[in-house]
Amino acid sequence: MIYYRELNLDRASESRKDRAWIEQQWTRRQCRVLVLRHDKSLMYWRDRNLQTPQVIDLPKAEIENLAEESEQRVFLGLDRNGPLFAVDVSSHDDDVLAAFVGDNEFVDLRDVGWLLESQQAAQLAYARGLLFWNRNHRYCGICGSPTQSENGGHMRRCTSAGCGRMHFPRTDPAVIMLVEDRSDPQQPRCLLARNSRFPNRMMSTLAGFVDPLESLEETVAREVFEECGIRVGKIEYQASQPWPFPSSIMLGFRAEALTRDIVVDGIEIEEAYWFDAHQLKKFGEWGDGGDYFCLPRRDSIARYLVNSWANEVLAGECSG
Ligand SMILES: [Zn+2]
Repeated sequence: MIYYRELNLDRASESRKDRAWIEQQWTRRQCRVLVLRHDKSLMYWRDRNLQTPQVIDLPKAEIENLAEESEQRVFLGLDRNGPLFAVDVSSHDDDVLAAFVGDNEFVDLRDVGWLLESQQAAQLAYARGLLFWNRNHRYCGICGSPTQSENGGHMRRCTSAGCGRMHFPRTDPAVIMLVEDRSDPQQPRCLLARNSRFPNRMMSTLAGFVDPLESLEETVAREVFEECGIRVGKIEYQASQPWPFPSSIMLGFRAEALTRDIVVDGIEIEEAYWFDAHQLKKFGEWGDGGDYFCLPRRDSIARYLVNSWANEVLAGECSG
């Protein structure tokens, strides 16, 4: 499974352009609201030891005052329970929020994403990405005038009469690729690396942003060579994952290695090795405190690419 996908929500992308319709949704009794502050989401812990964070979506009536003063409100969509909105309370004072927050807590989705029910995780990711974009596009990139939110938070319009430029949420494409070496058919291997930003021991697939005027395949080939000195041949698309941390989509590929000598760049990549599927099965989990290498987090497409490759190789061994 790939996290943060298949959001089961009607985005009502036509209806949300109508301000009166949005207000009508906001006043519906079934309206529920996610509350975020500096990219963190309001949750409560049913049992901290069991690692069971619960997302809080409040009936609108409970946060009426807070929401009216929030710096941004966005409409996420409609599900079978009714309309779902998210509000950003980043600019509220701690003491104003304290009474409201109570025993709950603002938690970073990146730390708990895989512990949540998948629809809840996807809703929070969507809310986080959209609120982040609004918070960081308060001024027009053309003329510098303030912008105003429209379309339920899915567009911002420049308030200068002479400009009036419409700005839409942007998504930055990034490729992520599992490089495989099948030169020895008896022992296929894959290339995993540790980025200098990763925790110790965590090994993952290579990844990078798409440059202007670059095809996705060209980005894959360039990044693999720049980061690890490996030339790749055949490149095949696998799957994609929305990754609003803060505003990307990860485009997953598998690439065939034409060379095998690894030369890490020493800046972005600190170490990189070839691993076979049996070695991967001995990897630990992120945060388990073990000594051996560990896999990327369970909510990442990197994890999906590594797992699906290892399972495919092992299944081939069994049937062979
Ligand atoms: Zn402008």
